Amino acid sequence: MEHVLTLVCKLQLTTEQGAKIDALLGAFAEACNLTNRIVKPSVKSKTTIQGLVYQTLREQFGLSANQAVRVCARVGANRKTATAKNKPVKAFEPASADYDARIFSFREQDWTVSLTLLGCRERIKLVIGNYQQGKLKGRKPTSAQLCLHRDGQYYIHIQLKNAVIYPQFLRKSEKRLKKAQRRLSKKFVKGAKPQSQNYHKARKRLGKVHLKVQRQRKDWAIKQARCVVHSNDVVVYEDLKIANMVKNHHLAKSISDAGWYQYTQWLDYYGKIWDKAVVAVSPNYTSQDCSNCGHRVKKSLSTRTHSCPNCKIEICRDTNAALNILHKGLNVLGVEWNKHSTSGQEESGSQDRKHGEKIATAVDKQFDSVSKLL
Ligand SMILES: [Zn+2]
Repeated sequence: MEHVLTLVCKLQLTTEQGAKIDALLGAFAEACNLTNRIVKPSVKSKTTIQGLVYQTLREQFGLSANQAVRVCARVGANRKTATAKNKPVKAFEPASADYDARIFSFREQDWTVSLTLLGCRERIKLVIGNYQQGKLKGRKPTSAQLCLHRDGQYYIHIQLKNAVIYPQFLRKSEKRLKKAQRRLSKKFVKGAKPQSQNYHKARKRLGKVHLKVQRQRKDWAIKQARCVVHSNDVVVYEDLKIANMVKNHHLAKSISDAGWYQYTQWLDYYGKIWDKAVVAVSPNYTSQDCSNCGHRVKKSLSTRTHSCPNCKIEICRDTNAALNILHKGLNVLGVEWNKHSTSGQEESGSQDRKHGEKIATAVDKQFDSVSKLL
């Protein structure tokens, strides 16, 4: 699972650089508006738009190859959102421009970014504090947005992709729980019946701390499940036997704190209301088998990398397991697994669409059987 953090950083600009950015934002917006005017409103695919206007954009506005591609992508994306909201596409304002890895880079040594503007590349210093520095340390962000804010200053919005880290609600509340528990036991009088009023007050206070942890977990499970099902056509998860795993005392607290069972229930729920395929697969050998060749590689829980002696592949243990789970899930759905279109993120729009269609049609046919399996 991945989530994207957008980091907003102010740019320290010379007057000259400011003028260049102004020129770029103007050209970017003009290019978007022109594209929106000359391409038929029904065309929404960025690849098709690109085929129609790419040359015009480059010649007329002096945009670089990647900037022209970003313009097409933005017009396509805006059209899709506008259709979804049933509203017309708004005119593009000269307030922002999109950047990808080719036309943007970040350097940690001196906290600068390098941006391609109109016909030149500029290195610009970031005005950032400890928070941003901590987030950017050791990272190589590959996409960003150059923005003019309402305060008249230029900012860069840097997108950082992070793995979803489960917030440990119970661990964080442990101190408060301990305190409440201690106060309660101090008020307990052995053999007294009924216990004092103060005892019952303390008992209720302890209950509230537990209730808070419970509600935080539920909230997280719902939001994450909603997000995952909403942005994917097929969701496959491992049907873990939580009750058995909790028997391992070293892991019991962490596993219960994660609330996996609750999370999977919400995945099923959102899958049903949005008609998406949500599949549970058996967890047998998902982390042992090689996702590349199928060879079984025995490993303990502490081995974090999967290295296959058969096909010499070396990947993260969890990535390997995730690929195996996806493979199993697609087998259940009766969809052919194309390794290259699932493991790589950088794929062209047309491939992406083909793959999506294949899944969608197969899902239509198989959806009943999947529901039964669940
Ligand atoms: Zn292998």
